[in-house]
Amino acid sequence: MSSHQMKITADIFAAHLKCPMKCWLRTTDEPFSGSAYTEWARTQSHSYRTTETELLVSQSSNNEFAFSPSLCNLESEKWRTASSILVQTQTDNCILESELHAISRVPATIKSHPDDLTPIRFIFTNKLGTLDKLLLGFDAFVLSKSIGRSVRVGKIIHGDDSGTLRVSVTALINTIQKHIEKITALLSNPTPPELVLNRHCPECEFRDSCHQKALKSDDLSLLSGMAVKDRAKHRSKGIFSVTQLSFTFRPRRKKKCLANKPFKYDHALKALAIRENKIHIAGNPSIGITEGQVYLDVEGTPDQDFYYLIGLRVKENNSDKYIQHSLWANNFSDERNIWLSFLKIISKVENPRLVHYGSYETTFLNRMRERYADSAIDVEFQEKIISSAVNLLSIIYGQVYFPTFSNGLKEIARYLGYMWSDNAASGLNTLILRSNWERTNSISNSLM
Ligand code: SF4
Repeated sequence: MSSHQMKITADIFAAHLKCPMKCWLRTTDEPFSGSAYTEWARTQSHSYRTTETELLVSQSSNNEFAFSPSLCNLESEKWRTASSILVQTQTDNCILESELHAISRVPATIKSHPDDLTPIRFIFTNKLGTLDKLLLGFDAFVLSKSIGRSVRVGKIIHGDDSGTLRVSVTALINTIQKHIEKITALLSNPTPPELVLNRHCPECEFRDSCHQKALKSDDLSLLSGMAVKDRAKHRSKGIFSVTQLSFTFRPRRKKKCLANKPFKYDHALKALAIRENKIHIAGNPSIGITEGQVYLDVEGTPDQDFYYLIGLRVKENNSDKYIQHSLWANNFSDERNIWLSFLKIISKVENPRLVHYGSYETTFLNRMRERYADSAIDVEFQEKIISSAVNLLSIIYGQVYFPTFSNGLKEIARYLGYMWSDNAASGLNTLILRSNWERTNSISNSLM
């Protein structure tokens, strides 16, 4: 892209906040590989903006609301609130452009002073992050450049309750300018930036094509647990691929003084497991539960801190049979009911021990304890099952290396040959409990 034609819109700016490659691909003809999340978020965003704009219209008196007005000659204007205002400014290197969701205007009380303009951005989520504030900051920055005076404050209207957050834009200007400089440099270059898979990939519209490219080059960023600085360190030593990393693995005995410390995660051993398509074990991982397992899987909406499904797989007393329970909450008021039903089900199991995979369930258990400390709950029993819960991921982390790029349960389940509905957590548990590891007779059990 030649620099004199370069246009940096709010969309391009937002993409860069997530990933330089995404920013670059947005300016090319790269087709979207599709992401249900992207589509869902776009629809939510559009409908939230429409609803909030209608609310602003309904709260304004006659003539005090304008749609897409010009920001020239504001002295003669009557509007106090407006929506869909396109602002644009030309810099030395590019055009900056944003379509402000809304703007509020407070006319100056002193004639020689300018009106006070506050850009407003609508964001459908309840929780806001730095990215949201920077995006509002970009709106304010482009507005201030286009009208030739500073805009110090912006507003974000967000979430189910249409909460308002006032954001000091002045504090964000330096960061915004640095991002604009980086985008300008990125888009001036005819070659794409380095591909680095990252946390945003699962919800990105380019995820399939990027994943294919990473697989083709066997890129280190396929190892999802590797931090950016570790990857940079390996690259500085000439190690660019997972296969190259696998050859750097050296078995080491754990020092006696570190015997009680958890095993350190070894990316090279993970790479070796992938290259050889074998599971590798460090030490002797053990769960220490032989009966009473109750497998727990919880679903919720993190943006609302609301849990709508508790999934349980319980072994019948004195039998090899498992019973599955799905406890659904249709709304917030149902959440307490499913928590009580959950406690009732496990109270019937002899010496119950909760087994789950990852920290999501740990947070859930702690939240339920805080949220529903009422008389209908046997606090002692609740405390016992929460404190004795076992997180399988914390046991396998650093000790069991599956030939999978991540430790995601679905990826591991696929490798182990479990259908997702077979309950992968219980399958994984069974595998760890098994002494002969029959599926993986090539395990290096004495590596560490
Ligand atoms: S899939 Fe990942 S690496 Fe590719 S553009 Fe999206 S965020 Fe960036």
